[in-house]
Amino acid sequence: MNVTELFGCNVFGDEVMKNSLPKEVYKSLRKTIDAGEPLDTSIASAVAAAMKDWAVSKGATHYTHWFQPLTNLTAEKHDSFIEPSGDKVILQLTGKSLIVGEPDASSFPSGGSRATSAARGYTAWDPTSPAFVKEGTLYIPTIFVSYTGETLDKKAPLLKSMTAIDMQTKRLLKLFGIDCKKVSTTVGPEQEYFLVDEEICSRRKDLSLTGRTLFGAPPSRGQELEDHYFGSLKTRVAEFMRDLDETLWSYGIFAKTKHNEVAPAQHELAPVFTTTNVAVDDNQLTMELMKKVAQKHGLVCLLHEKPFEGVNGSGKHNNWSLSTDTGLNLLDPGENPEKNTLFMLVLACVISAVDTYQGVLRACVASAGNDHRLGANEAPPAIISVYLGDQLGAIVDSIVLGREYVPKKAVPGSIGVPESPIFPIDTTDRNRTSPFAFTGNKFEFRMLGSQASVADPNIVLNTIAAQAFSQAVEELSGAKDLEKACKEYTEKLLKEHYRIIFNYNGYGPDWEPEAERRGLLNNKTTADAVPEYFKRENIDVFVKQGVYTEKEVVARANISLEIYVKSINVEALTMLEMVKQDIYPSVNGYIAELCATVAAKRTISEKIACQADLEQIEKLSALNDAMMAAAKKLEGDLLQMPEGEGPASMKMAHVIVPDMEEVRRCADGLEKLCSADYWPFPTYTDIMYSVK
Ligand code: ADP
Ligand code: MG
Repeated sequence: MNVTELFGCNVFGDEVMKNSLPKEVYKSLRKTIDAGEPLDTSIASAVAAAMKDWAVSKGATHYTHWFQPLTNLTAEKHDSFIEPSGDKVILQLTGKSLIVGEPDASSFPSGGSRATSAARGYTAWDPTSPAFVKEGTLYIPTIFVSYTGETLDKKAPLLKSMTAIDMQTKRLLKLFGIDCKKVSTTVGPEQEYFLVDEEICSRRKDLSLTGRTLFGAPPSRGQELEDHYFGSLKTRVAEFMRDLDETLWSYGIFAKTKHNEVAPAQHELAPVFTTTNVAVDDNQLTMELMKKVAQKHGLVCLLHEKPFEGVNGSGKHNNWSLSTDTGLNLLDPGENPEKNTLFMLVLACVISAVDTYQGVLRACVASAGNDHRLGANEAPPAIISVYLGDQLGAIVDSIVLGREYVPKKAVPGSIGVPESPIFPIDTTDRNRTSPFAFTGNKFEFRMLGSQASVADPNIVLNTIAAQAFSQAVEELSGAKDLEKACKEYTEKLLKEHYRIIFNYNGYGPDWEPEAERRGLLNNKTTADAVPEYFKRENIDVFVKQGVYTEKEVVARANISLEIYVKSINVEALTMLEMVKQDIYPSVNGYIAELCATVAAKRTISEKIACQADLEQIEKLSALNDAMMAAAKKLEGDLLQMPEGEGPASMKMAHVIVPDMEEVRRCADGLEKLCSADYWPFPTYTDIMYSVK
């Protein structure tokens, strides 16, 4: 395999464009992609023709506008290239079909922002993300809007947020005399996932229907031996990963790092970072291909945030940075950050944005699945805080507390073995417990759930950072002594938002009470977190930066709550089905066998020991009964759901979820007592160690 040839072979990328488009058309398109200039629609026909010819040469017969409705998935509707020509056909893609499509929008979530009768929706080509050919179809990345112009997807607001941060950062840079064409945010999402055997997975209704196990006693061997993290790859896993890498490369996705994660059967894939819009599209495609490639290997790829209780869940670390087209990374501290006025100002702006809008930042990653990670005994906790590391932490402390900063030199490290190389010791360590950690030249937002779209947190990050930059510009424009004014403003921001900085262990028991003292939010469930979107100041920031209208913010928050309620409802119904159809009858079967055993023993002699049998019968009967009582309560509570997303989500979070935990507690107790011959589905050990 020639990797350089394989890479991007399914993508209508720069080289193909250059070779297949007329020179002027190519130049015009590049201006749109690189500098964000409006698309000249007169070039559409030429681009469409070239795209179609290239796609057909790759075996494509169809094309689709590929978009990202307000689920975490992508949507597509395929049209063939054929056009009748006499009694024959020709293959065609017109400029108009490239630029706009009109899928029926009525069945996509709109958060009550529109009536079902208003079904018209439009998709519009996004030339900044490349088209590609997959399984005989040309995929054209598009945004999705309603007939009345409301955005119905995640890409349109993402692009708007990128425009906002581009604009505001350029204004800020101008004050410093720095000119550039474009400022882009870059993102590298690290993706965690589990792999389990397909046949074993198919015997679990919960895994098949909800993506996670609703039952399961802890396995005798969990992650406590810490032997899975970075462990050697099992052959089947290695084969899957190799196949996945090759597939991703063919779609131009920079798959770079792969390794085993903390929990048994858990793994991670990290790509090289790229511009946010492309990173989001790539991650959507990556998640889809992970599932498809797994299937080829007889495996199931679980992207749920918490497939198994008691071992680590899966997240997606959103590495986020900000660079100019001239190659300046605004989050690069350089050698002496304390003397780097621009860097310190940018840093203070980001810190102030994260503090001011901590509620939305938490809300944008809220989901039923992610509630099992955030706010549970697994971190990062539901509290937003910023980790700066030793060096920046000390600089910020010195500014806020008015102390002198004494730089600590990064010394070359050596392990004391003469043959081994000397390595430079970084000035920042990696704090794994922080939800928003500075890691060298970027921030790593670690709250995102593994199956979520990367778009949501980046829409928020870009918007709130843009807002902070625009405020800085207003404050600093016209300053006689810019340097002095910047320093003062930086100090003011750092002092005002000092509470959000936390450089210690975010998993520790002291942090929650400490965060409360500092007045930081700690919204543990989706139902509690999402309503932050409805607050005036939070709506305003999206409206001011031109990312959402007020109606769109409200609609999106409502959709998020609606999805939360529906997901838990499906889980609860699946749970009830498994209890009644599988667990209860199976346990009764075992109890009947024990009873028969006791009876048989008694017919032989009264003296044969039956103590254990009787105890088992008693324990199993009591617990089976308790489980049915808990199930009955759950069923009853489900029947009385209040109207409206807000109250319904509160009921889910604070009544239904605890009900479900009680059902589970009984069932998991039964699993430990029940004979393996009778237990109705594979156990945690069966599932987590199923891939050899
Ligand atoms: P880890 O977080 O495991 O220590 P790294 O710091 O090496 O790993 O990087 C993790 C991810 O961060 C990778 O996907 C990488 O591409 C991404 N990344 C590195 N630099 C940037 C940047 N400037 N902007 C966005 N993402 C970046
Ligand atoms: Mg990381």
